[in-house]
Formats: sequence, structure tokens, C-alpha cells
Amino acid sequence: MSFRQRYTGLIERYRDRLPVHDDTRIISLGEGNTPLIRLHNIPSMLGKNVDIYVKYEGLNPTGSFKDRGMTMAVTKAVEEGSKAIICASTGNTSASAAAYAARAGITAFVLIPDGKIAQGKLAQAMMEGAVIVQIMGNFDDGMRLVKEVAVESPVTIVNSINPFRLQGQKTAAFEIVEELGRAPDYHCLPVGNAGNITAHWIGYSEYACGEAESVTAACTLCQGHCRFAGAITGQRPKMVGYQASGSAPFMRGKMVDNPETVATAIRIGHPQSWDQAWIVNKESGGWFDECTDDEILEAQKLLAEREGVFCEPASATSLAGAMRDIKSGKIEASSTVVCTLTGHGLKDPDTAIAQSTAPVVKVEAKLDQVKKAIHDNLG
Ligand SMILES: *Cc1c(COP(=O)(O)O)cnc(C)c1O
Repeated sequence: MSFRQRYTGLIERYRDRLPVHDDTRIISLGEGNTPLIRLHNIPSMLGKNVDIYVKYEGLNPTGSFKDRGMTMAVTKAVEEGSKAIICASTGNTSASAAAYAARAGITAFVLIPDGKIAQGKLAQAMMEGAVIVQIMGNFDDGMRLVKEVAVESPVTIVNSINPFRLQGQKTAAFEIVEELGRAPDYHCLPVGNAGNITAHWIGYSEYACGEAESVTAACTLCQGHCRFAGAITGQRPKMVGYQASGSAPFMRGKMVDNPETVATAIRIGHPQSWDQAWIVNKESGGWFDECTDDEILEAQKLLAEREGVFCEPASATSLAGAMRDIKSGKIEASSTVVCTLTGHGLKDPDTAIAQSTAPVVKVEAKLDQVKKAIHDNLG
């Protein structure tokens, strides 16, 4: 009897498509290989014949897709002899950086916006032994400071401007194509720094790449790390990026100085992958749009109530936008749509509890009272 091969993370799985060597020490927590869940109840509610799948990235080891990029970034930092990593973060990058640094035995410095980080994320970074620098400013301030300090200090930046981050994150697209047997028609993502939408496009492009002489524009996005410098021959999805209205530089066409949204993971006014995301937009034939905080929270709740899938507010932005575009017909009937759910709902329990309308019935510890509570609430 043979045993099923143990899953040991995305670098091992996609080793031939990632910039690692045979003797590279891989820093992994078993990230990737997340479920692609087909929605049942929401599509019928919309009254449209569309296939909607959610890629539940909240099931990565630290609860967000950031782990896909971090396994690569930390593996390469260690390979290059780095003893410390640094990042600015709205929360999930810091939780992920802290975990992979702990695994590697190096130090993580994380700059987080004072008071604007979800509790779950803060708890993770604290438990995982990161040095937490709480700055009186927002993510964009933190990012500026990280870039400045890294010039003089012996620290490796692990924000998505580190090209290895995007290399790790592109593997989500590989998994989707392999599971569906083809690329979806539309891929919807929440957009903050726009690193993830760029990484997915790199992944889809690599998969759709045949052998040819010419190097396409898509291949320039991977900054030379892709070994498939060919022409695109296969199918790729239209990439649709949704932002929170109070934090939507791609909609305004310029940087936003004081971004505000309940979706703290995308509270970013100066996206680091600005140019790349516009290339993705143009090449894929997709679009950007925005969702209000109310739409985002409504989608988060709907997904949990109707499908049993709990994601954090920022993640629900992809579904909120997709539902609107499916209803309006902008996303046509019969399409296959994938929405990335970037982070787990448990990351931000405060926002969830504050907006919950679940019936909470308080009773005495007596059988008749519990019976009555059941009777009164049977649908
Ligand atoms: C980081 C993050 C995003 C934004 O991803 P970008 O690559 O910055 O566009 C969205 N949702 C969650 C939960 C995140 O942690």
C-alpha cells in the first residue's frame, strides 16, 4: 500500500515554476492548496445562470493569501543571508511575516497603523514574536518609512514590492486553472496595493504561455522570473478589481491621501503596484469599480449566512462587486466567475459582531425556556 504524498506547501508543488534552486532551504507552513468553493444559494438568489466560485484564501496558515507570497519572500531572504525582514502592513502582511520569520528563526519588524488594525491580526503578530512598530499614520506612511529605513538598515522588505511575493502569489491562479480545467471567464479581487491582482495575471499568463520567440507585455510583469518567455496562446480571464469607495485610487485615477473604509485590509491610498495593475486592466480587458462600505458588509454577511463561508470585510469586496455586475449583466449569463476571498472572517471579530443581526436569545438555564426559544425561532 502506498501513502498519498504529503502536501508540503506551494513552493514544493510548483518548484519548476518558481525561482528556487535544488538546495534552497524552503521556509513553509503548508500554504496554498486552498478550497475553490462553488456557491449554491447566492447565484439562485441573483436569478442569473452564472457559476460563481470563491477561492477561500482565508484557509492559508495565517488566515490570508499573504502566506503565498511570504513563503517565497522569506525563503529568498534566508537564502540571501538576511537576518531580519521588515514590512508595512494593514495587518495580514504583518501576521504572515511574523509567522514565516519565526519559522525561519529570523527577526520580523512590522509597521502597523495605530488603532486601524483588526484584533485577530494584531494578536497573531504579537504571539509570533514580531517587533511591532505602531506608527501614528496610515499604511501609506508606513510603506514610505519602510522604503526609507531599508536603504540604511540590514533588513529585507517583504511587502509586495519584493518581486518574490508576487511569484508566490501567482500560484493561486495555477490552482484555479488546474481545478476548473480551464481559466475562468472573470476573476474578481479586492484591490489595495494591487499586488495580488498583478500576481494572478502573471500566473494566468504563465499558464497560457506557449513556446514562441516574442516576449509579450504580460511576461514583462514577472520581472524576468518567469521562464516561459513565450506568446500567450491559451485563455485568460478578464481581471476585475474592486476597491472600497473611500479608498479607491484606481477609480479616481490618482492617489488618495486619506483613505477610509471599514475594510481595513484595503485602506490604501497609494497602491504600490499602480502601473502593473493598469497593465493587467488593459491586457485582460477587465475593469475597476468601487463598493461602498455598506455593500461590502452586506456581501460579507450574505456569504456567511447563505453559504457558510466567513471572510473578512475586505475579502467580501470581490463578491459585492461581482454580484452587482452579474445583476446588471456586465458579467454575462453563463460566465464562470472566481472571486478571491483574501482573508478569514476571524481576523476581524469586532466588525463581524458589530454588524451581526443574529437572534441572540437570553434565557434562564431551564428546559421550558430553551424549548420556548427553539419554538419561537423555528423558521
Ligand atoms: C492584502 C490584502 C488585500 C489587498 O491585496 P493587494 O495585493 O494589496 O491588492 C485584500 N484583502 C486582504 C484580506 C488582504 O490582506
